[in-house]
Amino acid sequence: MPSLNTDLVSQLKKLLTTTRNILITTHYNPDGDALGSSLALGRYLHLKGFSVKILVPNEYPDFLAWMPRNGEMTVYSKNQAQGDDMIDWAQVIFCLDYNAIQRVNLFSVKLFQAKGVKVLVDHHLQPEPQFDLMFSLIETSSTSELVYDLICALGDKDVIDKDIAICLYVGIMTDTGSFSFACNLPHTYEVVAELVRRGVDTEQVHRLVYDTYSEQRMRLLGYCLSEKLTIVKDCATAYIWLSKADMKKFKVQPGDTEGIVNYALSIKGISFAAFFTEKPDRIRISFRSKGTFSVNNFSRDHFNGGGHRNAAGGETFLKMNETIELFTGLLPQYKEGLQSAALQSSLLQP
Ligand code: 5GP
Ligand code: MN
Repeated sequence: MPSLNTDLVSQLKKLLTTTRNILITTHYNPDGDALGSSLALGRYLHLKGFSVKILVPNEYPDFLAWMPRNGEMTVYSKNQAQGDDMIDWAQVIFCLDYNAIQRVNLFSVKLFQAKGVKVLVDHHLQPEPQFDLMFSLIETSSTSELVYDLICALGDKDVIDKDIAICLYVGIMTDTGSFSFACNLPHTYEVVAELVRRGVDTEQVHRLVYDTYSEQRMRLLGYCLSEKLTIVKDCATAYIWLSKADMKKFKVQPGDTEGIVNYALSIKGISFAAFFTEKPDRIRISFRSKGTFSVNNFSRDHFNGGGHRNAAGGETFLKMNETIELFTGLLPQYKEGLQSAALQSSLLQP
């Protein structure tokens, strides 16, 4: 099982003995793991007697806005002055589910300069050395699983109550695509079993996250798949792009585009999927892959991003058509790797 460095755990324990004010932060466009791990760690530290605040950079979708104590998080984009005060106030700043301070986007400069001790808890590849204590485990399913392990390593397994368990379960479930990727280690299921023992209704959580699509969101998905999907067969690649006009037509809300990229990847023989959306000042990209093809490397090398081997984000400051041209122009040099990843992932491995 992925294990935490015991020296680091001791250092954290020591740090917490001299701390009262704790701030928890997470990345821009927070997802289920970012929010779940933050709320869970926040409640745990609150139960341990600390004064805890949670700061998220921007708004998040409704299907994630129901977790216990959701209302206690401060959204920086709506409350900048309060967010800045929170950063100044903190003696310790937990940095959850991101590997570089730039990933918080809106308050990254302020966070760089903050006097609080920065504690990273994350599972993304290649973390930047910008943190004072780094719990970085890339083998784990999610930051939420890592928070569970950290609470246990601090000797507080018994403090994990139903509310903490629900938040951690949301993080593990969403970051593994409902246990379809990054979930091949027994430990993940041992953690989940403990969470279920603490009262998580996994069926209900699944419904709350995945069966709450708005009609518009469902129609947008249909439009993407029937009208906007392009397949580059010889490179085992599928991609979808949405313009500002498309998003206006479907009245796209935060989170509505989440998961669309996975449909492109679920096609037989496809090992690489990309999803491009036109933002006011940039093109935002989600990359997904099957098997050995690293979208982390691809995005780092060409699209100013990164993430995990099989799920990464990126961006350009080009026009949409230029971005797509850049992308499709790069594919031939990866053809062999893409084809072999497609082949490998269609076989039962020995
Ligand atoms: P998504 O496509 O869902 O936005 O992101 C996929 C994964 O890549 C997530 O784990 C996310 O945290 C990570 N990610 C997304 N964008 C970036 C980026 O610009 N840089 C890095 N390092 N990771 C990213
Ligand atoms: Mn995560």
